[in-house]
Amino acid sequence: MSDLMEYKCPNCGGVVEFNINTQEMTCPYCDSTFEIESLRKYEEELALEALKEKKTWSKYNVEDGSNNWQYGETDSLASYVCESCGGVITGDKTTVVTKCPYCENPVVITNLLAGDLRPDFVIPFKFDKKQAQEKLVEFYKGKYLLPKFFSEQNRIDSIQGVYVPFWLFDCKAQTQARFNATKVRTYSDGNYMYTKTRHFSVSRGGEFKFTHVPVDGSFKMNDAYMEAIAPYDYNQMLDFETAYLSGFVADKYDVEADDVSERVSERIKNTTVQILRPSEYTSCVLNTANLNLDESNIKYALLPVWMLNTKYNGEMYTFAMNGQTGKLVGKLPVDNNKAMTYFGLICGSISAIAAAVIFFVI
Ligand SMILES: [Zn+2]
Ligand SMILES: [Zn+2]
Repeated sequence: MSDLMEYKCPNCGGVVEFNINTQEMTCPYCDSTFEIESLRKYEEELALEALKEKKTWSKYNVEDGSNNWQYGETDSLASYVCESCGGVITGDKTTVVTKCPYCENPVVITNLLAGDLRPDFVIPFKFDKKQAQEKLVEFYKGKYLLPKFFSEQNRIDSIQGVYVPFWLFDCKAQTQARFNATKVRTYSDGNYMYTKTRHFSVSRGGEFKFTHVPVDGSFKMNDAYMEAIAPYDYNQMLDFETAYLSGFVADKYDVEADDVSERVSERIKNTTVQILRPSEYTSCVLNTANLNLDESNIKYALLPVWMLNTKYNGEMYTFAMNGQTGKLVGKLPVDNNKAMTYFGLICGSISAIAAAVIFFVI
């Protein structure tokens, strides 16, 4: 017995035992039986699949110098640092920048250059300042609970076109996934009902190509806002030129690509597992999954966002608009008086329904 390896039941994970009578391995937890040979093969396959995992990305290319600024390229640029949130933004020298687009506090000019790296790509703004303001007015329309003062004044304390830094991940992904699946059949012989459950260990693999999986490189930019104004059309992405910064500011990335690459690998793995998951079984649970990344590549891009800030009752309300598609999001203040009336109306109709119910019960 001592040379007998301990095998785990592929169905439930319990330790299987050798049954002398049947000469088979039996799981005391789920009653499944296995031949030793198939269990051994199964464990070998699992070990082999586990070895294949490779989730690391090639380093963002700093070494080859392709992301260094060219001589004189930054002469027309000025960088500012926000005294409050510490954000570093860069703009064309002719653009007047006095406030931080994220927290509205004053910014001061700094010698910190544009960020150490030159962006690879940029998606240029398609909506100008005036169109962004018009979009906001449109956004207010039909918002019943919005305080009149807020919408009528229609004042925006500041509006700034910001290029938000993004890391774009490209790769070829090979995923090998193993699922524990069952097929259940119920039938009757007239006297008894039978339920027959067949268990399967399903191994499926595939190769996938991912282009431009985006990850926000700015800690200060609200992630929920950024997600809400997505997506961007990356087909319109162009090679970066400092000329695109004219009239706008670019936020320097403060989240390193290396710090988010692990998360990207997980996202890619989960996506591919979902695609590989077989649908023809009664139940199907993922057992193991291995990702093997190849031809991985990270690029640095600037995406256009209009940031609109408005103060109301001492609180700041921020709106963000996708500078390419015009999609706008933001939190609006609620007029408490209006809210009370509205609430009253709902309560009123509930009690009317309650009264009707009582009436019928009696
Ligand atoms: Zn079992
Ligand atoms: Zn700030």
